[in-house]
Amino acid sequence: MPATALHRYLIALGSNVRHPRHGAPAQVLRAAARALDDAGLALQAFSPIIASAPLGPSRRRYANACAVIATRLDPPQLLAQLQGLEHRFGRVRRGAPWRARTLDLDIVLWSGGALADIHANLVIPHPAFRQRPFVIGPALHVAPDWRDPLTGLATKHLASRLTRRRPAPR
Ligand code: ATP
Ligand code: CA
Ligand code: CA
Repeated sequence: MPATALHRYLIALGSNVRHPRHGAPAQVLRAAARALDDAGLALQAFSPIIASAPLGPSRRRYANACAVIATRLDPPQLLAQLQGLEHRFGRVRRGAPWRARTLDLDIVLWSGGALADIHANLVIPHPAFRQRPFVIGPALHVAPDWRDPLTGLATKHLASRLTRRRPAPR
């Protein structure tokens, strides 16, 4: 049987809740990066960690980062692994019901191009990543030339599109 190819993935990490052991959200992301590597998902690059404004009703600031990993896992296998990690980090039982998740791990891009897997509920590229400064910003540090297979634009092009001012409406 042919050996399974090694795939590269761009992963977006986010946290907005302290972890009782790891500490503040930025520390959660550093611990998550180590855990990815320990789980055999070879960490090839890890971006600076940025602080971004909260999304939605929460008032907590987010810590965000991006990582490039290499693994033989296919996308559904990797998603299952990432969800296992989220679970390990994110769901801290403190007497009451499950608390908010402290770790979010999204697959942004992979070396295999575009993919939609209905059974695994998985879409790559991540449908919202092009519009999210908190994904594109960190991604610019670790994958500036990686092209989005749907638009053909590299991360650096998506970044300049995001920061460029829109023309004033007439
Ligand atoms: P968003 O996807 O807008 O960033 P979220 O990360 O908060 O929102 P989750 O609750 O973490 O959303 O995930 C919801 C579902 O998204 C998961 O069950 C997963 O199957 C699905 N999903 C689809 N595409 C992806 C992807 N590229 N990476 C991670 N999860 C994905
Ligand atoms: Ca997300
Ligand atoms: Ca997610």
